[in-house]
Amino acid sequence: MADYTKPAPNSRPPSVDRIVRSGGAAALVDVHGRSEVTRAARLVLSDLRQKLLNGEATDLAEEAVVGAMSQLLARVSDHPLRRVLNLTGTVLHTNLGRATLPKEAIDAVVDVARGASNLEYDIAAGSRGDRDQHLEAALQRLVGCEAATVVNNNAAAVMLVLNTLALGRQVPVSRGELVEIGGSFRIPEIMSGSGCTLREVGTTNRTHLKDFERALGPDTGLVMKVHTSNYVIEGFTASVTEKELAALCQSNGLPFVVDLGAGSLVDLRRYGLPHEPTPAETLRAGADLVTFSGDKLLGGPQAGIIAGRKSLIDRLKANPMKRALRCDKMTIAALGAVLRLYADPDRLAERLPTLRALTRPIDEIRALADRLVEPFSRSFTGRASVTVVECTSVIGSGALPRKTIPSVGIAFCPLGERSSGTALSRICRSFAGLPTPVIGRIHDGAFVLDLRCLEHADELERIAGQLRIEP
Ligand SMILES: *Cc1c(COP(=O)(O)O)cnc(C)c1O
Repeated sequence: MADYTKPAPNSRPPSVDRIVRSGGAAALVDVHGRSEVTRAARLVLSDLRQKLLNGEATDLAEEAVVGAMSQLLARVSDHPLRRVLNLTGTVLHTNLGRATLPKEAIDAVVDVARGASNLEYDIAAGSRGDRDQHLEAALQRLVGCEAATVVNNNAAAVMLVLNTLALGRQVPVSRGELVEIGGSFRIPEIMSGSGCTLREVGTTNRTHLKDFERALGPDTGLVMKVHTSNYVIEGFTASVTEKELAALCQSNGLPFVVDLGAGSLVDLRRYGLPHEPTPAETLRAGADLVTFSGDKLLGGPQAGIIAGRKSLIDRLKANPMKRALRCDKMTIAALGAVLRLYADPDRLAERLPTLRALTRPIDEIRALADRLVEPFSRSFTGRASVTVVECTSVIGSGALPRKTIPSVGIAFCPLGERSSGTALSRICRSFAGLPTPVIGRIHDGAFVLDLRCLEHADELERIAGQLRIEP
């Protein structure tokens, strides 16, 4: 054991060189490399010198210095982006990374990340290829489109469409559809950012075809309809259908674009879920282009997909902005693998994690809760009551905002007189502070873990044993 000494006038910390060459530091050098270990030694020793100057009790022993270095290096090498367990009940949680990729997609990412690939190379012809070629055929089959292209996310997809087809021109949009998605995607800002002028049409609750007719003029670039994915307007309402807008645009020679947002590739009713508009239906209703996200209901990587008429897709591809917004090879690999799973809809709910979570039988979730309640009760004895509760999950990411799915969770309710707010945030913090942080939600005075998205019960069971609750 190192002993703490009051600094004697002649006690000095060891030199950086001596510490870095010490036996204790050798293991750190193996993991972090000499230069990082030297940097840590400098920081720790300068801190020690400062403490000595302040007359504070300081441990100058070599092993104490190496111990402090090891802690510092562990903090620094903590990956800033790390895995967490999403037990919030929001299946597609934007702040927690949205869709979880299937194994097939992860394998495909690893494969192309490991070495060179035919990203923009046509192997048969031995010549330059197009990175969209890896996805276009699958999208043509699944969406029934003439052509498709893929960019970084759906916000980028909307920007590329607006900038290419309506730069410096007006774009009429219903006042009922001027959406904001998570703060940074707002239709008015996206319009001006893309170099277009938003032409607001109709009112918040009612927009009619004649409102659009009046808004069209020589300055109109295209007409856009936005799927109001994260809210619902109820009561005395009217909106113009895709079919009507498509006919209006066709007779005026204008492109008609629909931003679908979540855009499920299959009819979710097939899996007992509520219907969400599909890109195929929207194109059949007459849209010239549809845009949707890769990591919402589709269940793939972050991406923005634009599908529709070939003549328009060709113009998008020729815009230099396409180059700035394009996807990298790992995204293309992951999306390609996910699209291949859609070729077999019978097994999709088994293989695609997003759909698996959304369709998980409630009895299976309840069985998980019954199994986990006991180990958690043990770790929270005297601090919180731990019970199995009925709760509700939501899809998230703006999809079907009012649809909740019955689920089962574990509720932690603080005991005693202490202000329950403080006690609750203490429980939250103990879960967030785990090596794999566990994120739940606070509901009705309890901290709740919704188990719908828990794939590996063993992991949480182990966690229950590791929990250290602050006094
Ligand atoms: C989610 C959403 C977007 C933004 O998509 P990202 O993939 O997050 O960029 C745009 N429009 C609608 C209607 C959406 O629901």
